[in-house]
Amino acid sequence: MGIIRLKHDIFCILSHIANLIICDKEEHVNHNTRKYFEKRVLRKAGTAVHDYRMIENGDRILAAVSGGKDSIVLLKVLAELKGAAPVSFEVVPVHVSTGFEKDFERITVWVKEELGFEVRIFDSGIKEILEHVSDPEKSPCALCSRLRRGVLYSLAKREGFTSIALGHHLDDIIETFFLRCFYTGQIGAMAPSRYSNDGRNRVIRPLAYCRNELVEGYFRTFGIEPVTSICPIRPDGKRERVRDYLKLLEKEIPTVKESVFSALGNIDVKSLCLKEAAGAHPH
Ligand code: SF4
Repeated sequence: MGIIRLKHDIFCILSHIANLIICDKEEHVNHNTRKYFEKRVLRKAGTAVHDYRMIENGDRILAAVSGGKDSIVLLKVLAELKGAAPVSFEVVPVHVSTGFEKDFERITVWVKEELGFEVRIFDSGIKEILEHVSDPEKSPCALCSRLRRGVLYSLAKREGFTSIALGHHLDDIIETFFLRCFYTGQIGAMAPSRYSNDGRNRVIRPLAYCRNELVEGYFRTFGIEPVTSICPIRPDGKRERVRDYLKLLEKEIPTVKESVFSALGNIDVKSLCLKEAAGAHPH
């Protein structure tokens, strides 16, 4: 009986040691994975911020936080840049609620604990507006995002923020370019840094150089789930279609997205079909 007991105890001790080694190894791997993504995301974000002069000394940045992976990575990046940048700036996370988010509260807790920011929440009333205003024949998503942007813009203006940071990344920019081209007959995308049409708000996109996979990989190392939406409206699927086309293209041209992004900053205006420019004298 004594020998069996002893064997059992030794077995327990050995399993415990094995568990400790495995946990330690897992932690080590997680740490390394986070460092891998962090380094790349921060390098790309830092370069974009520098190239487009997104942040200046004394800036007050309103960071839009939907609770999705992109906005959380954006916030983390701004927190890291704030600690490392040679300029001093303020970051205030703001969530404009659509009323469809599931359990946003845990994101505010995570942001507070991990990044030290308080997320300010504004109820936009969009849920109610959509019920009355939307045309059942048309997707209300464009209206919804316009309304949310409106809340952010007026808040920024009212409270003297110098810029609004959004979590769009390189893939979003490319997809928007094709969406506008295919469905609205317009050449345009989402600028990494620009003023709103009325010139009152500056919008910055520090993740403009980051690919979706990179943002996603970095987000996974945070160990949290993104906020999901219970919005009953299904998006019209155009963005998904463009995404699928691009996936197909990428099989043939692996750097197609980087190439399109660089084309967006390298425009041969004279070769475009602008009627106003027709017949204009060279000087
Ligand atoms: S799916 Fe719903 S919450 Fe999302 S953009 Fe469309 S209307 Fe707004």
